[in-house]
Amino acid sequence: MKRHDLIVIGAGPGGYVAAIRAAQLGLDVACVEKEAALGGTCLRVGCIPSKALLESSEHYVVARNRLAEHGVRVGSVELDLAAMMKRKDKVVEGLTGGVAALFKKRKITRYAGQARFTAPRRVAIDDADKTELEAKHILIATGSVPTSLPGVELDGDRIGTSTEALAYPEPPKRLVVIGAGYIGLEMGQVWQRLGSEVTVLEYLDRILPGMDGELAKEALKLFKRQGLAFQLGCRVTGARVHGDRCVVEREGDEPLECDRVLVAVGRKPNTEGLGLDEIGLTLDERGRVPVDDRFATAVEGVYAIGDVIRGPMLAHKAEEEGSACVEGIVTGVCHINYDAIPGVVYTDPEIAAVGKTQEQLEQDGVEFRKGVFHFRGNGRARALAQLDGFVKILAHARTDRVLGVHIIGPRAGDLIAEAAVAIEFGASSEDLARSSHAHPTLAECLKEAALAVDGRQIHA
Ligand code: NAD
Repeated sequence: MKRHDLIVIGAGPGGYVAAIRAAQLGLDVACVEKEAALGGTCLRVGCIPSKALLESSEHYVVARNRLAEHGVRVGSVELDLAAMMKRKDKVVEGLTGGVAALFKKRKITRYAGQARFTAPRRVAIDDADKTELEAKHILIATGSVPTSLPGVELDGDRIGTSTEALAYPEPPKRLVVIGAGYIGLEMGQVWQRLGSEVTVLEYLDRILPGMDGELAKEALKLFKRQGLAFQLGCRVTGARVHGDRCVVEREGDEPLECDRVLVAVGRKPNTEGLGLDEIGLTLDERGRVPVDDRFATAVEGVYAIGDVIRGPMLAHKAEEEGSACVEGIVTGVCHINYDAIPGVVYTDPEIAAVGKTQEQLEQDGVEFRKGVFHFRGNGRARALAQLDGFVKILAHARTDRVLGVHIIGPRAGDLIAEAAVAIEFGASSEDLARSSHAHPTLAECLKEAALAVDGRQIHA
């Protein structure tokens, strides 16, 4: 039996950040991970490889279609998919290796294998030595796994999830994406840029559920203009491989034939094989581990964070929770402002949001004022030749406190950081409007939108 102060199960962004923070706070920390590489879904088969491909595929499109506008003439532009994939793998290797180095630096003990609870403060690992560990605190940070639909037969190849879509051997001629959420749009755009004919089937009558409606509407318009096809209000009832192609069945419509199917209809908490029954830990109706505001479960000494608990399945949300949870264990202070956690879709244009959507404020009967500024009125956006999109700020009608910021346009994912800080600090739109923003930058659009809350925008 090996003893530690804290055992973290899972080395994704939630788990590895919790382990590092706990080590900084003086705990003797162990982390158990079943995959050979650290970093979880995000680093291995999620955020990072998809961003590498989004970046590379954008270069391809820019070289093919947009350089001439800048007066740069290139000869024929060819896709070298193997090289693109190799670069992606290198980016992933660098980062997962980086986490291993950070563990070493912080003297975190790493165990390879799947951990299973044998008692509230004990886990057994399925490694060759059948290692048993004991700790005062155990943190479940096992993340999530893709879900599928009834009737959709995942074959781990042609009908697959984001994992397969990160490594198609060539651009499928026709790709059907089921689900117009984060994954469907990001990966759909990658393959559309690389030459696939992409059709996105979405059950709802809109894309990006949960995002501000005005943003989603603008995004739909722009994606369509790029050549992505959408069928909204479409319920997929089945998908299977049939000979050399795939067949997707839709309610009330003809079956759709294609070469590959990407199923992107959400993810579910990953608790399989953890032995939660063994310690009497029951899940909620959506398969999540219930926790209190200190991330403690109903079983003393057992905590949970990230995708395996309530809230959005986002790497940075898990990171915040990982740090807050171990700080709570060590110092007694544990706090997260969930209103200040941004969400970003890394498509072109990027789509980013923090705080409340307009629909949420309307539903809650909160009176607000709205300021909108379009990128086409911004000098830097014009120099970049990226004029699509806008910044929208929602501020409380009486107090002027910023309640929500929604951006669609160039570098929205980076621009949203200022808005998250503003919300975290309880800023008013007047605070943003009176803060100097360097000229010419895209960030000036935030200042202009803040001025627009009071009808004082300069460049529109
Ligand atoms: P999602 O929840 O974002 O979107 C799933 C979509 O599938 C929804 O629009 C839903 O209405 C639709 N859908 C559900 N059932 C359907 C059916 N039968 N037919 C057609 N459409 C159907 O899920 P996702 O895109 O799979 O992503 C999973 C998780 O990963 C999300 O929680 C997301 O937060 C996270 N993620 C985040 C990022 C990012 O931060 N950029 C990127 C990728 C994934």
